[in-house]
Amino acid sequence: MIRKLLRKVFNYRAAPVSTEPARIPVSQHGIRRDRVSPKAIKVCATLQDRGYQAYIVGGAIRDLLIGHPPKDFDVATSATPEEVRALFRRSRIIGRRFKIVHVVHGLETIEVSTFRAAHTAETDWHGRVLDDNSYGTLAEDAIRRDFTVNALYYDPLTETIVDYHHGVADLQQKTLRVIGEPRARYREDPVRMLRAVRLAAKLGLIIDPAARTPIRDMAILLENVPAARLFDETLKLLMSGNAVRCIGQLREEGLHHGLLPLLDIVLGQPVAERFIWLALENTDARVRADKSVSPSFLFAALLWPEVSRKWKERQAAGESPYPALFDSMDEVLAAQAQRLAITRRIAGDIKELWGLQPRFDKRVGRAPYRLIEHPKFRAAWDFLSLRAQAGGIPEEIATWWNRFAHSKQSEREELLRSVSENGVPTRKRRRSRRKPDSANTPEPLPAS
Ligand code: ATP
Ligand code: MG
Repeated sequence: MIRKLLRKVFNYRAAPVSTEPARIPVSQHGIRRDRVSPKAIKVCATLQDRGYQAYIVGGAIRDLLIGHPPKDFDVATSATPEEVRALFRRSRIIGRRFKIVHVVHGLETIEVSTFRAAHTAETDWHGRVLDDNSYGTLAEDAIRRDFTVNALYYDPLTETIVDYHHGVADLQQKTLRVIGEPRARYREDPVRMLRAVRLAAKLGLIIDPAARTPIRDMAILLENVPAARLFDETLKLLMSGNAVRCIGQLREEGLHHGLLPLLDIVLGQPVAERFIWLALENTDARVRADKSVSPSFLFAALLWPEVSRKWKERQAAGESPYPALFDSMDEVLAAQAQRLAITRRIAGDIKELWGLQPRFDKRVGRAPYRLIEHPKFRAAWDFLSLRAQAGGIPEEIATWWNRFAHSKQSEREELLRSVSENGVPTRKRRRSRRKPDSANTPEPLPAS
């Protein structure tokens, strides 16, 4: 009755809960076993030999169906973690509450998890699932997964896909559909809303209206998610190679409030916005080109406009540049930590990157030589050039440093002279360098 009503009012269509799955042969889905990891096949074969059920599951099958190279291959089985552990010499049980087994084959690790059921799960006050570690059947394992396209089980020995929730059809129709009632599933685990946005962006899928509509008013539930988990999920999103699309969609859905509250503040500030989009575009381009991307650089960029704004304010209030910068940095990181726990190591790297920015203002004497020798010079320069591209500082500064870093000694001297000729009083600076206190004091910088 309620389902009928919901369907009428919201065009709601829950994935049908069937106990008999579709068994889709290779002639229909086209994934031959030579497309999947031989190690994952071996794990499935060993488990099946011992009478257990075993399938390759989740993201890998979804990605293969859509023509993306899978990141990794996960196996789901009816064997318990201890039983799996006993079958593979190089394996170990990971996790205490939710045990999985890592089976190591050469450089590859196959993650093997036991079928789980969600219905006995313990929930918190808001309905968030706290413990979903009770074992179940294949059908139960399929129903506790988040989206229909993620609940596909591939048997590499028969090359058949077991599909309980019409995931293959949804994928063909480019639809991301939640298994079960979206509101209930988001309540159980609010992170699924973020996953919806990330996967839709990554796979080029449309979020089914029934799954999309509730996000706006349920976004607030992300506040109950532990900050460390939010950080992991946000990092995945930002490093997906589709950060621009993801953040755009997050904003549309009103989901970014909880994650990066500072993104809200910069809305409508052209330089700050341009800066953030450029940082995201750069990251996407690097991920897609298989280049390394550093999370600290990215978070440093996302939070910089706010640091920069506070820095300016503090200086206007009379604080001297360096303390003003460091106080602003601490303030911004502390505000952020309440929502999204940036790890301590990353926070350290971020501070280093920010702290180096004022040093690019000193283009006299020995200071530039010292700066280019700094182990983080390259990252700090990348950051500087992003600021220049966004229009926060003159492009000339970033170009100058690039030339300085890559020139011979004589050209460097020439470059230093060119700055002093452009109106920076070299002499005066030299004298002030002798005072220990002002040696590191930068000129105030414009915002961004
Ligand atoms: P990616 O390609 O980015 O790794 P993925 O879907 O494989 O995407 P994982 O975090 O690796 O994401 O999760 C593996 C599988 O576990 C998913 O495909 C899904 O079936 C299930 N899963 C992950 N997170 C959740 C969740 N919050 N709720 C329900 N099921 C989940
Ligand atoms: Mg995965």
